[in-house]
Amino acid sequence: MAPNEGQSRVPRASIPFNPVFGWSVGNWMEQFFDGMKEGKILASRCPACGRVYLPPRMICERCFAKAEEWVELPETGTVETFTEAHVKLAPNGTFEDIDGPEIIAMVKHDGADTCIAARLEGGGVSVGMRVKAVLDPSAENVLDLLAGYRAAE
Ligand SMILES: [Zn+2]
Repeated sequence: MAPNEGQSRVPRASIPFNPVFGWSVGNWMEQFFDGMKEGKILASRCPACGRVYLPPRMICERCFAKAEEWVELPETGTVETFTEAHVKLAPNGTFEDIDGPEIIAMVKHDGADTCIAARLEGGGVSVGMRVKAVLDPSAENVLDLLAGYRAAE
């Protein structure tokens, strides 16, 4: 017996649905993005325990105080871990193959206590590798302001 044989069929209708999503990134991420438009990497710091968050967070995950101090961090950091991506998300929500693997690295900026995820440009990556942020202050999409990282000279 075939898997669906004997079961009633549910009528289905196809409805064209292709929404464009827009959402508020919130005050903390807005300051982070505004900083990158000026070529600055801004992190939030907890005034109670001193933990520095990049990407910025409003509330400290350790002591729940409002992380309302802002500090500018250098462009440099260290790769803490990484992965290889072989597909990307297409505009229609499906995955599509990319030409070659893309390295996505978790980078801890100098002066930060947390990591930020971004593409790593160029070949060769290792844990502990020193990298430098690549900013694109003219990017239309705020998510592209941090274009990625490359090996620090
Ligand atoms: Zn704290």
